[in-house]
Amino acid sequence: MTNKPLNVIIIGAGTGGLCLAHGLKKAGISVAVYERDRTRTGGLQGYRVGISPDGSRALRKCLPPELFDVFVATCARAPKYFNMLTEQFSEVLSFEIADNDSDPVNSEKSVSRMTLRQVLLTGLEDIVHFDKKFTRYEQHPDGKVTAYFEDGTSATGDLLVGADGTNSPVRKQYLPHAALENSGLISIGGKLPITEETKKLLPPKVFHGISMVMAPKAYSMIIHAMEFKWDRNGVKSGIGGNDAELIARWPGLLYDNTRDYIMWGFSTSHRLYPANPLQIKDGEALKQMVLNMTKGWHPHLRAMVAESDPSTMFTVNIRTSVPIEPWQTSNVTLIGDAIHTMTPGRGVGANTALRDAELLCRRLIEAAAERSRSSQPCTSMRRR
Ligand SMILES: Cc1cc2nc3c(=O)[nH]c(=O)nc-3n(C[C@H](O)[C@H](O)[C@H](O)COP(=O)(O)OP(=O)(O)OC[C@H]3O[C@@H](n4cnc5c(N)ncnc54)[C@H](O)[C@@H]3O)c2cc1C
Repeated sequence: MTNKPLNVIIIGAGTGGLCLAHGLKKAGISVAVYERDRTRTGGLQGYRVGISPDGSRALRKCLPPELFDVFVATCARAPKYFNMLTEQFSEVLSFEIADNDSDPVNSEKSVSRMTLRQVLLTGLEDIVHFDKKFTRYEQHPDGKVTAYFEDGTSATGDLLVGADGTNSPVRKQYLPHAALENSGLISIGGKLPITEETKKLLPPKVFHGISMVMAPKAYSMIIHAMEFKWDRNGVKSGIGGNDAELIARWPGLLYDNTRDYIMWGFSTSHRLYPANPLQIKDGEALKQMVLNMTKGWHPHLRAMVAESDPSTMFTVNIRTSVPIEPWQTSNVTLIGDAIHTMTPGRGVGANTALRDAELLCRRLIEAAAERSRSSQPCTSMRRR
């Protein structure tokens, strides 16, 4: 083992990679993150991610305390109900979700993925390098590893962490036998801003909850309303004390254009779509496809789709990782979706990426301490 300080390279500035970078930075370990998106605001769709107590615990351990408070302050209001409905908006089942909103860790939180990313990028400005598309790595006999990027540059360190999501190029080189399986489901999602008019489209329990619409022909739709503590004019009036102050002085608000929205996601088997939605890049065409497939649904549900902004439309091919046998460890490793992609329906992908990041961070802090102990000059034994 060499006794030089540990140098960690992370590929991917997503949920897991950024959480890990914070934890390592906090522990004084040298870390650099390389992200393919061109800029801080590039790349991501702003859909809801549910952060569980597991995810919050990992974030609390890795983030500086004030940034963890910003994460809590920037969550959307928590849903109050879980509802199951027919496509005619008839209630099949509805229950209240326990209200433990005031507990910063032991509560279920709703966060917009774009906002979470802006929170996680805060304070890492000198560590995250954008417009760096990883292409391959090379492991050297001296224990170092070099990552190569599409622009012809490279970075060398002691450990390469692939936090590069479902299609991870790090995984494809390191564990080429690790496969992804299609679930057969494809989702089309979209958003519309919350206004006095759009609010009226949803019954109160749906507006204040998470709802699943179960329709004939194996069609389904999930609906969330996301309301935040700020709007285009800054912090909303009536948001008290600490949260208002934290949001007002959080520099990430400059980059985050998230505003109150209703989000819906329509899903069914790939066989039931008239054409493959994954090949359609035009938001208006995706919207029309959902409208054509939901003829006969409650007019308010269809109005919600019709009034969605075409630029917010996105598709998700729902895939899952095929588990593999344990492998020989080395100076390359993987966290999050890169090694275990899961269906969004389980609501645990981000939480597991955060747990991976916190666990790896702990192990690396131990390894760095071990290196530094082994680099201390030997002291002569004291005589009695
Ligand atoms: C609609 C939807 C809803 C979801 N809801 C939930 C939920 O409620 N709860 C939950 O826990 N999870 C949810 N998930 C899953 C969750 O979003 C993911 O599991 C989580 O973001 C994975 O984090 P990650 O860090 O592994 O990867 P990501 O956050 O995907 O980050 C990967 C990063 O790597 C970058 N990258 C990729 N290739 C390269 C390259 N070649 N070079 C450099 N950078 C690269 C990407 O640009 C990206 O920034 C949902 C997912 C979807 C699609």
